[in-house]
Amino acid sequence: MRCSVCGQEAVIRLRHAGLRLCPQHLVARVEKEVEGAIRRFRMFSPETRVLVAVSGGKDSLALWHILAKSGYRADGLFIDLGIEGYSGRSQDVAQAFAEERGLTLHVVSLAEELGATLDELTRIARGKPCSLCGTVKRYLMNRLAWEGGYSALATGHNLDDEAATLLGNVLRWEEDYLSRQYPVLPGEGKLVRKAKPLVFLSEREMAAYCLITGIRYLKEDCPHAQGARSIVLKGILNQLEDRYPATKISFLRQFLRVRDRFRPPEPARLGECQSCGMPTAAEGTCRFCRLKEAVTRHTSRHGTPA
Ligand code: SF4
Ligand SMILES: [Zn+2]
Ligand SMILES: [Zn+2]
Repeated sequence: MRCSVCGQEAVIRLRHAGLRLCPQHLVARVEKEVEGAIRRFRMFSPETRVLVAVSGGKDSLALWHILAKSGYRADGLFIDLGIEGYSGRSQDVAQAFAEERGLTLHVVSLAEELGATLDELTRIARGKPCSLCGTVKRYLMNRLAWEGGYSALATGHNLDDEAATLLGNVLRWEEDYLSRQYPVLPGEGKLVRKAKPLVFLSEREMAAYCLITGIRYLKEDCPHAQGARSIVLKGILNQLEDRYPATKISFLRQFLRVRDRFRPPEPARLGECQSCGMPTAAEGTCRFCRLKEAVTRHTSRHGTPA
């Protein structure tokens, strides 16, 4: 198999892009796609202070690596969710990555911020771990970016993630979520701008990028990922992709095309939480503060978080 660009030995075939690439040209393609997405959607400029949400997985570490290499002012944020076994290993990987490259990584602990780990919160609030995880991560990422004076928050969502989210939203016809599914979301006030520079790059490309550039990442999945709806949706899309290459990329690109002709969504009209002062769509206190109150009530009654 020969590289479509230079004719050297290729290491990956990207059927959806009609390309076979050698290591050098795979790296070049990934970095060019990231830069292209940042410019096309006006995500941020080289002067912007960007906070990258880092999980220890391949996507977020590769994104941080590319931004730093391209001269962006990018620091990292790791949220220790307190998921037994998994969170500790994720943190070790993220910290080793930052130390090796002399990058700044902020680490925040959910147990300290909320009074309970995600495992404990799941028992106290009797909710689905991924739904609670999404709520607390979104809240903490935004608050810490805002408190740290960052003008943009970048996440490592890739093509597979975005296509699965889109499919899930379409199946339930979630109009509100669909209107806000976009590679960049504007910020306003205490709501920090959100950007997804890997939106057009597949999981396979990102894994190959890490392998070639020597990025060590945590390969194991979060224990809560098993049975999560997003994993089922990804499996279905993978089956379709096998049969009909480019299903995912055209699904996402066509959606963005028809979705108000690339006009970014308006900033959400939000009130302020009466307890922490951060933006919220809820009346009175935000969901994070309500969870925190539930944890505090539970702890004062039972002595321990869970
Ligand atoms: S799989 Fe669920 S619980 Fe685990 S990190 Fe992802 S969203 Fe959070
Ligand atoms: Zn090549
Ligand atoms: Zn609040």
